[in-house]
Amino acid sequence: MTRSGKCLCGAVGLTIRDMNPDFGACHCKMCQRWAGSAYMSLTVPAETISFEGAENIGRYQSSEWAERAWCKVCGSNLWYQVTAEGPYSGAYHIPVGLLDDTTGLSIEREFFVDKKIECLPFAGGREQFDTAAMMKMFGADE
Ligand SMILES: [Zn+2]
Ligand SMILES: [Zn+2]
Repeated sequence: MTRSGKCLCGAVGLTIRDMNPDFGACHCKMCQRWAGSAYMSLTVPAETISFEGAENIGRYQSSEWAERAWCKVCGSNLWYQVTAEGPYSGAYHIPVGLLDDTTGLSIEREFFVDKKIECLPFAGGREQFDTAAMMKMFGADE
């Protein structure tokens, strides 16, 4: 499926082709600070997304291996991206809320579940990874 999206003010737009509707929620403390609570995002290979208004995109290197981007006009979060080399490099993690149409999406994974804000019970069963599992996956600290 192809989906379009934009930030709160519309200065940055995006189009995702061949979008995978399965998404994940990250409960790590960095995502909580950045996104306000859990960071719920689609994984989008770089070659399937295009942006408009690139001049309005700000970037912040949030760790040695990743950066986060936002709209410089309205402050909406735009993506989390692993910049270090490796199997996770390059893909954009796009907040589901940026999409104009969120029908048909499905939450399939939760990360850093041991860091979750206690009163956020996401209903249903799905793949869950705690900090130890994440460290093993990435071979790094959060
Ligand atoms: Zn904006
Ligand atoms: Zn996170």
